[in-house]
Amino acid sequence: MSASPSPSDRATESYDVIVVGAGFAGMYMLYRLRGQGFTARVYEQGDGVGGTWYWNRYPGARCDVESMQYSYSFSDELQQEWDWSERYAPQPEILKYANHVADRFNLRPDIQFSTRVERAVFDERANTWSITLSDGKTVTARFVVLATGCLSNARMPEIKGLDSFEGKVYHTGHWPHETVDFTGQRVGVIGTGSSGIQSVPVIAEQASHLTVFQRTANFSIPARNATLTEEERQAFRAKYPEIRRFAREEARNGIYTEMPDRGALDDGNNERRAKYEARWNHGGLTFMSVYNNLGLDKVANDTAADFVREKIAEIVDDPETARLLQPNSHPIGTKRICIDTEYFSTFNRPNVTLVDIKSNPIEEIAANAVRAGGKDYEVDALVLATGFDAMTGSVAKIDIRGRNGQTLNQKWAEGPRTYLGLMSAAFPNLFVITGPGSPSVLSNMIVSIEQHVDWITDCVTYMRDRGLDTMEATKDAEDRWVAHVNEVAYTTLYPQANSWYMGANVPGKPRIFMPYIGGVGPYRQICNGVAAKGYKGFAMTPKEQPRKMAAS
Ligand SMILES: Cc1cc2nc3c(=O)[nH]c(=O)nc-3n(C[C@H](O)[C@H](O)[C@H](O)COP(=O)(O)OP(=O)(O)OC[C@H]3O[C@@H](n4cnc5c(N)ncnc54)[C@H](O)[C@@H]3O)c2cc1C
Repeated sequence: MSASPSPSDRATESYDVIVVGAGFAGMYMLYRLRGQGFTARVYEQGDGVGGTWYWNRYPGARCDVESMQYSYSFSDELQQEWDWSERYAPQPEILKYANHVADRFNLRPDIQFSTRVERAVFDERANTWSITLSDGKTVTARFVVLATGCLSNARMPEIKGLDSFEGKVYHTGHWPHETVDFTGQRVGVIGTGSSGIQSVPVIAEQASHLTVFQRTANFSIPARNATLTEEERQAFRAKYPEIRRFAREEARNGIYTEMPDRGALDDGNNERRAKYEARWNHGGLTFMSVYNNLGLDKVANDTAADFVREKIAEIVDDPETARLLQPNSHPIGTKRICIDTEYFSTFNRPNVTLVDIKSNPIEEIAANAVRAGGKDYEVDALVLATGFDAMTGSVAKIDIRGRNGQTLNQKWAEGPRTYLGLMSAAFPNLFVITGPGSPSVLSNMIVSIEQHVDWITDCVTYMRDRGLDTMEATKDAEDRWVAHVNEVAYTTLYPQANSWYMGANVPGKPRIFMPYIGGVGPYRQICNGVAAKGYKGFAMTPKEQPRKMAAS
């Protein structure tokens, strides 16, 4: 009697590489794989490209890394020809850019839209992955690349009565494609992270009344967004070689900015204040790089946090509202700093109310009201700006099975474990782009995406050229990397915040500092060093020979 066919025997389509997700990571991955002559197929659950920028269509959505830098660098023609209209492009423009890239590089024929990857099982006999799709089909591939995004699994809050609410409920990360008009409506926004902070000022302009439910006050710096002139774009373009090199190799966060050589306590009060004032007026994320120790030294950090708290008190008219908006629960910068346009001043509008749900938690949602602290706040529509199950959420939704049938969710039950944020031991030929254990969400993500895609492309090309069949992280290398990621994190102030970096926004999620805080420049050197040493820390097996088990 012949053995029952393995999943890959039954499959009809087979590729060298399957890529999951068609955001910036998946699109560039496809481009590079094709360039190396691999057969590749991308599956995307949405019906278009762009990932984050396809899903997050809420009012006020825009990037917080400046567009001239938050863009691909792999094609000089592309970066020279694309005209960003504003310092921080709005979501529709970034989505247009993603579509332009898909067309310019003819990516669409190899992307299958409206198709979820539900399951990925490693077939140990064939050394291939067997992939089950939402359309019921099974396909196989030698390699799988998860380009599923770090902020792509919208988190629905568990609030009693949410289902019984009679008005419309929107999640910022899953916004409808058609225009949502709040004119004349009473709107409630739950959540004051980045998406809440971006959307509140815009919704306040439309709504008859806006009630903002805040659990945690967050630090936010003015964007100072403005139209970009042709002269500004040209000046930037002329400097692109140096800007991109710096962002990749030297910057800690993948952003071109000057590197501070002083700590906050090296300056006197007046000088320090003048520097903060200048950065506040300049606007944007570089506020945190005024000094080199704001993420390391609490006393230094307090000087920046106090400055922002004072600004909030100056902007907001009502002292009690100002007090509630002043963040006090975490050092500045230890949660992703928000970038806003008129967020704090919006609370001076007569049609905006702030409700502190830390002291008065939401008890339930009724047919037309949010009940908190025993009081009903009547609303016609609800906006959930409650963020994402970050970094691991979308990966966890796929049933991934590696060696011996172990699932990735079982392996990551106590928190994600990877080597370099790229692979996890006992899951051969499975790569993650910007996964936990890499700089990822602590950086300009397009810089990190391009670095991972280039590394993975080099790696699979290396394997093909040498007739290698499988590659996987060794347990030993993974253990050492996980320890290193933790060690570096705990030399900083970051773990002091209950942030989504720590998984703290999802009840029951293990508290582990997920991204690698060592900086994109040093991290790139580590990854390049590993590759230069024949992929040290990874076990590789040649084709058609009995597999040597990775130490696991
Ligand atoms: C509102 C917002 C603003 C942001 N602004 C910035 C910024 O200014 N700077 C910055 O650096 N970063 C920013 N980010 C982070 C942003 O996510 C990244 O910059 C980048 O867009 C991520 O690209 P990606 O391709 O890795 O992931 P995504 O863009 O999230 O794409 C992943 C894709 O995978 C798909 N997918 C997931 N699971 C499956 C499955 N099982 N089957 C099929 N398809 C699947 C999803 O549908 C999605 O389209 C922002 C994020 C948000 C939410």
